[in-house]
Amino acid sequence: MDEQQLLNDITRNVQPLLDKGRVADYIPALARVNPRQFGMALATVEGEVCGAGDWQTRFSVQSVAKTFSLALALAADGERLWQRVGREPSGNPFNSLVQLEYEQGIPRNPFINAGALVVVDRLLTLTGDSWASVRDFLRSETGNDQIDFDGEIANSEASYGHRNAALAHFMASYGNLENPVGDVLRHYFQQCALSMNCAELAKAGLFLARHGIRADGSRLLSRSDAKRMNAVMLTCGTYDAAGEFAYRVGLPGKSGVGGGILAIVPGRYSLCVWSPGLDSHGNSVAGVEALDLFTTRTGLSVF
Ligand code: GLU
Repeated sequence: MDEQQLLNDITRNVQPLLDKGRVADYIPALARVNPRQFGMALATVEGEVCGAGDWQTRFSVQSVAKTFSLALALAADGERLWQRVGREPSGNPFNSLVQLEYEQGIPRNPFINAGALVVVDRLLTLTGDSWASVRDFLRSETGNDQIDFDGEIANSEASYGHRNAALAHFMASYGNLENPVGDVLRHYFQQCALSMNCAELAKAGLFLARHGIRADGSRLLSRSDAKRMNAVMLTCGTYDAAGEFAYRVGLPGKSGVGGGILAIVPGRYSLCVWSPGLDSHGNSVAGVEALDLFTTRTGLSVF
């Protein structure tokens, strides 16, 4: 397959969608991003990368980062993590408080904000510095020591993050946080504010395509845990539209309100698409279409 040709074609095809979505504006620093951008990168399990469009432009990773903190927490904590966070789709918006009250402070899954806060809290206990462990992992998987968070976006989130603070305090009241709320939020906002491009994210996701094996050949996750993570991405990774994403794309994926989506073809590829215009669920309009075109044209999906 000529992957470069395919990515070029897909990039051409999604151009009419670039003014269809809405840029996330609940984080003021994100509202200023130009929506007419699209990038797509593909990394093979052998470590080769190609891309098209704005694939080398950095953007705010946002919830795509939840993939990496979950992998690191699972690697360190194993099954114990699942006592504090579930693994069922929520069917609710990513920042919903309602379900958390019904379910006594145990978030439905690690990809809604409440669940990601629990994962960050656990990683903070296990490593002493959740943010640094995520950053160092990404630097080593991409070979790029410059990867860091964008301070303006992290501050913007901290200033307007009342809902995340409410989720964290609420879980603390149920005894489901081990660290002070302020510390958990700071580490969470910093990982959300990571600035990376499609090529870097595609490389960083390769351990999931390689069934748990990192860029240096060492094992991060057991084969079973890598399968489980891909399963949770498929069922919970794209907000309350995970069913529609599975229907259209048929791959494990994790999206973020910065407009990025990481998608995995197990045993073969890690893909990252980015376009800032979002649909009403928070998924990139052109990004989902690009992945839909990719699996339709190649016939590669998990089904
Ligand atoms: N930092 C964002 C928040 O917590 C992440 C949202 C997302 O990308 O889903 O609201």
